[in-house]
Amino acid sequence: MGFDLSRRALVGASAVTGMALAAPRAVAAMDGGPLFALVPRPTHIFRTKDHSHENTESWIFSLAVQTLAPVALTPAALRVDLLKAGKVMRRTEYPADGFGPMTYHTGFPPLLADGGTSPTPIFWPFAIRLRDTVPAALGVDAVQVHVEATDAGGVRGWSDIVLPLETYVQKTALVFPFAGKGIVLQGGATNGGHRNRSGAFALDAMGLDDAAWGVQRGDGKANTDYPGFGRTLIAPADGVVVHARSDRPDQPVGDASNPDYFAEEFKAQGGGDPGNHVVIDHGNGEFSMIAHFMAGSLRVKAGARVRQGEALGKLGHSGDTNAPHVHYQLQAGPDWQNADALPVHFSNVDQAFLDRGTYFEARAGA
Ligand SMILES: [Zn+2]
Repeated sequence: MGFDLSRRALVGASAVTGMALAAPRAVAAMDGGPLFALVPRPTHIFRTKDHSHENTESWIFSLAVQTLAPVALTPAALRVDLLKAGKVMRRTEYPADGFGPMTYHTGFPPLLADGGTSPTPIFWPFAIRLRDTVPAALGVDAVQVHVEATDAGGVRGWSDIVLPLETYVQKTALVFPFAGKGIVLQGGATNGGHRNRSGAFALDAMGLDDAAWGVQRGDGKANTDYPGFGRTLIAPADGVVVHARSDRPDQPVGDASNPDYFAEEFKAQGGGDPGNHVVIDHGNGEFSMIAHFMAGSLRVKAGARVRQGEALGKLGHSGDTNAPHVHYQLQAGPDWQNADALPVHFSNVDQAFLDRGTYFEARAGA
């Protein structure tokens, strides 16, 4: 929920181990103009089938405009080419007025490359949010992005990048982190709402009343009015807990997420607090992150070995959230903010794709 809109998490994402630093590629300094590189987050662009019946596929990612000095750059022009075997299948061009609204400014914190092991700072004057839904029959296999930007003196530079569109093959057979009826609040590439690098395919889901699929009882002003509150959250697959936090309180139910209940480090960045949460290493490069556990309910610590279906704690309302729900994301590393996001599918849910507004019933057992 509110957790999802953190831009700061995206900024932090550049200070990550293994990131190739900023050798600006395919950069031409038009008129001796500014030099910048384009860096995708997540680093892989995965296409997913979407929820419609139109046989379309979708993708979503951010592209950081990266420099080696804290220069101000203004978006000037953007061109996005969808490629099939190197041939342009569709071209979209944005003049400055159309480009600007697709960008967001990350400020100029000097970001250290390679997880801080390199002393060379990098800077992200702005980032671009790119998403698309196309007919699968178009056969798009790469996205080529051309960006032009001007510096403070009005001098224009440009950079290009070609990003292959990949299809992710999930290695772990996962069950949904709770059993029973639920509804997806947001999720997937088509309408995710989670902007950070690790959450591109994250799901938020509420538990529903077993008889009537209802979302709440009574006036909905107490956490206990929500049928999902207190539901057992389970390990989606076997693994080892590599990170656990259990000291956060539940929020009372309000009209919106209340920052007073965020941990200090998330107050400073205006949101993004997962509250009580765990990260489980499945041992094959895939990691499950589960968040917003009920205060005091988490029963595993870092180092614990867990089995699929084992109770981890209870669905709660801790962190940056505006109603009791669970946040789940599959990621390619242990760090829930700096690992690449992975598309996810659950073996005990009928729907192949869980999209915003999807009612589902997770069967007990795999
Ligand atoms: Zn979420």
